[in-house]
Amino acid sequence: FLESSKFPKAKEDKFLGGLLASGFDEQSCLSRYQFASYSKPSPHSPSDYLLQRLRKYEQLHQKCGPNTVLYNRTIYQLTRGSSSVTTECRYVVWISYSGLGNRMLTLTSAFLYALLTNRVLLVDRGADMTDLFCEPFPGTSWLLPLDFPLSQFKSFNINSPESYGNMLKNKVISNTAAAGASLPSFIYLHLGHDYREHDKLFFCEDDQDLLRTIPWLVLRSDNYFVPSLFLIPTYQEELHQLFPKKDTVFHHLGRYLFHPTNSVWGLVTRYYQSYLAKADERVGVQIRVFETESGPFQHVLDQVLGCTQKQKILPEVSQEQTIIAAPLKKSKAVLLTSLSSGYLEILRNMFWVYPATSGEIISFHQPSHEEHQQTEKQMHNMKAFAEMYLLSLTDVLVTSAWSTFGYVAQGLGGLKPWILVKPENRTTPDPPCILALSMEPCFHAPPFYDCKAKQGVDTGELVPHVRHCEDMSWGLKLV
Ligand code: GDP
Repeated sequence: FLESSKFPKAKEDKFLGGLLASGFDEQSCLSRYQFASYSKPSPHSPSDYLLQRLRKYEQLHQKCGPNTVLYNRTIYQLTRGSSSVTTECRYVVWISYSGLGNRMLTLTSAFLYALLTNRVLLVDRGADMTDLFCEPFPGTSWLLPLDFPLSQFKSFNINSPESYGNMLKNKVISNTAAAGASLPSFIYLHLGHDYREHDKLFFCEDDQDLLRTIPWLVLRSDNYFVPSLFLIPTYQEELHQLFPKKDTVFHHLGRYLFHPTNSVWGLVTRYYQSYLAKADERVGVQIRVFETESGPFQHVLDQVLGCTQKQKILPEVSQEQTIIAAPLKKSKAVLLTSLSSGYLEILRNMFWVYPATSGEIISFHQPSHEEHQQTEKQMHNMKAFAEMYLLSLTDVLVTSAWSTFGYVAQGLGGLKPWILVKPENRTTPDPPCILALSMEPCFHAPPFYDCKAKQGVDTGELVPHVRHCEDMSWGLKLV
């Protein structure tokens, strides 16, 4: 049972600056309109043009969504196997794949691509999509109907002959002589981290011209490929209008798309109200260690303390004094997320045994310690989603390098995090953390190709708003 929020904020804007449409049933998805009463008002307003395009998209989705006349017509065409009949409705089908953070980033990328190309986004519900997310578009559904006829789509992979890359390579289609040629009714876009040269041509203008004529695009990715969309000339003007501030793409689209179901929202709000709401300041620390053992590791603990104390996020403790008679009685609640319980134990003990030199009252809270990544277990991902949301509700955030879990939290929260630099050889890095250039996620596997010159190029050097990431030198991010 959830009653409306106990912590209403002044001038709370439940539609998030017009990002959210009105008219949804509130009870079926409490998070949608309650989110604003838990989060700080965003300093980033969505552009009027983005709002217009979202409303237009919602109309398109209602017109072409599952089980509409137009949907049924394109399905008929799909089963006949040819794209030669022009259709009013064209689609991107997103395949559920990889960890939850990765999925949220690829889904956002697929949605932006759908917006840019006037396609309708349909999502494969996978094992748990319906347990995690509410419907984002009013009066329709984003779930791919279960009787979708391309039943083989879940097993599409890098070697599938239906992939765009393999079709180009095997000369089944050509990106130079599209006119008049017979084209398939669907194409599989393999945009996973392991994608190859021909798959990467997706990011070229000529290839986009060809793909525009294909009614069904089925997409699998585990990457936030938005930064490279900003390098395709066809979309640049539109993207500029949608996002005059380019580092707000995930912040706005994430808040637009991802509304936790009532079960997940219950996890978020009960935890928030019990442990975080009353503190003067909330600090989020996300510890994600990419090692086979679960930890805790001393070098990571040293890194977290080194970072938070150097940046004055947490106070030092005094081993000499038993009590600090300081006037400052500010309370800080630290929300820790980690697969391991060890860090919490040590930090909590340290701030119990020794007083904080600042006189602040520090409490540590960790909602779960699942020990291992278990992508297929239902409650596991509900907790993971709730924790990303809780991190996004903090005032200061420390995240781990390379982690999409952290990217989602920072983006939803509109926070530029301190990033814990990825340790090498189990040694605490120096400096332990760096401030992010922007709150955008990093595209971990971008193409380095100049489509016009047909040769390699450093895509992090082409325009001022697409840069290499702080946490991964070859990655790309919007700044
Ligand atoms: P990434 O691997 O850090 O980029 O993030 P993903 O979300 O894509 O995949 C990691 C998965 O491991 C998550 O989806 C969770 O299932 C699990 N996981 C990792 N860290 C945590 C954590 O701090 N809390 C919880 N509950 N799960 C976590």
